[in-house]
Amino acid sequence: MRHENLDGVLVTHLPDIRYLCGFTGSSGMVLLLPRRGLFLTDFRYREQSAREIVGLKTIVYETGPEKSLLKTLGDDGLLRIGFDPEFLSYKGTMSLRRYLKGKASFVPLKRSLTLLRARKSRLELEKIRKGIRIAEEAFRDALREVERNTTETDLALAVDTVARRKGAEGPAFETIVASGLRGALVHASPSRRRLRGAAVIDWGVMYEGYCTDATRTVAFGRVPDAVRKAHLLVLEAQERAMEKIRPGVRARDVDRAAREVIEEAGLGDAFGHGLGHGVGLEVHERPYVGKTSRDVLEEGMVITNEPGIYLSGVGGVRVEDMLLVTSQGAELLTTLPRTLDPGGY
Ligand code: ZN
Ligand code: ZN
Repeated sequence: MRHENLDGVLVTHLPDIRYLCGFTGSSGMVLLLPRRGLFLTDFRYREQSAREIVGLKTIVYETGPEKSLLKTLGDDGLLRIGFDPEFLSYKGTMSLRRYLKGKASFVPLKRSLTLLRARKSRLELEKIRKGIRIAEEAFRDALREVERNTTETDLALAVDTVARRKGAEGPAFETIVASGLRGALVHASPSRRRLRGAAVIDWGVMYEGYCTDATRTVAFGRVPDAVRKAHLLVLEAQERAMEKIRPGVRARDVDRAAREVIEEAGLGDAFGHGLGHGVGLEVHERPYVGKTSRDVLEEGMVITNEPGIYLSGVGGVRVEDMLLVTSQGAELLTTLPRTLDPGGY
């Protein structure tokens, strides 16, 4: 608030709200003022918020948050309230401005609140590590169940089901299984096709609110030489990125280090996405690790390292690990091997 010359901040993005006060429901907002904080929600969350909210006064509204805000802000004169423009709609902003005319002016924050969550605490790291353990066990078990006629959908379902049984709250995103030529589709949904060739498997679980994210490429039967070469290149790119990572380094320079390996092999165009992203309460969050990122790495950030090579009409490869930025450099959180051989897991 001091930094942006504000009298208050309105928080509307649910992961930010969860981070600030522990609320896990689907509807609510937080108003932070210099000396107090309010949590506003609707009647469905009366019970749940009473159990979960720590440190804020809860207001349960009947017809929308605007009237409650009006009452709360009282007669302190015109307050400058910041909001994160990425997470409050045009309609929502207009409605607040109309209701609170003369009491509050709403100004977009320059620095996103999501950045508060980029560095993980010891407790958050514990949850993330546990999530990774569950995700990896699920991957191993699911691979063992693969038979001649297993389809992409079967494998994706097996990963999700095992993870759930082992304590995951659910998948962090829709599990991707894309084999053979479909491996060239970066975000393919699993199909009813039998697994064959190199299969890109990208999966993650949610554990106590925290996400995990990893990818392995595994060969079921024959794999074209171009895909095998691409796999080796991707591993080399990952290693270059690992060497580059330390606090104070620009995220875009880490992307660059990995990208150079793939560009030098003449496959720069086949690596069309960013190298990685932060992971936490959201599966994709700050910092962004890509060509145009302005983020700088800090100790305690958890990020992915996921170079990929997608060859149209041939197949695709992606390998993705999660890692922690420490004062010493990158610490790998993912523990799975990276081999193409499904027997190697
Ligand atoms: Zn992923
Ligand atoms: Zn990812």
